[in-house]
Amino acid sequence: MRFVGRGDLTPRRYHRRVPTLSEVAVEASTCTRCRLADNRTNVVFGMGNPHADLMFVGEGPGAEEDRQGLPFVGRSGQLLDRLMRQEIGLTREHCYVANVIRCRPPGNRDPLPDEIEACSPYLEAQLELVAPRVVITLGNFATRRLLHTSEGISRLRGRSYPFRGGHLVPTYHPAAALRGGGEIVAEMRADFVRAKRLVAGDTP
Ligand code: URA
Repeated sequence: MRFVGRGDLTPRRYHRRVPTLSEVAVEASTCTRCRLADNRTNVVFGMGNPHADLMFVGEGPGAEEDRQGLPFVGRSGQLLDRLMRQEIGLTREHCYVANVIRCRPPGNRDPLPDEIEACSPYLEAQLELVAPRVVITLGNFATRRLLHTSEGISRLRGRSYPFRGGHLVPTYHPAAALRGGGEIVAEMRADFVRAKRLVAGDTP
């Protein structure tokens, strides 16, 4: 009688291995899926804890991010770090931080729909592999993309949405808070507290 061991039932060679986050980052580092590849200095893939419970999704790299190859390292990033620390009690090393697009648009213009589409496999992979409990979307581009809506952020924020078995909490982009001042910052703080409670397991 032929022995049928586990190896015979699930021969590994027939299964494609799921790539790791670092493998996806290596692939993205030479990406030419859209025109933004032409003028970038660095691909800004994302950073942070690959097993984070909380993930932030912003819009796309600005000048400083393009220079350093890291997300949210300019003025918006300083505000993001401050609110993260003050309202959630975490640093970005505890969270995962990514963007809708990974290359800086010329002159910091808005990302175009085909650029967002071309970059979406990377964001999908990050969401799948990090598998956070809670995603905070920063601004219109991330929120609209992940909630599949064309509604604006000021109408969408103030509550959470079911998302991939967890929750999505939309809030303003920190650049909007830098422009808009105290009231926007106060609303962002409230959104961050909402996200913190959901990470802790509270019901929405
Ligand atoms: N703004 C973003 O949306 N993302 C960054 O990484 C930096 C600024």
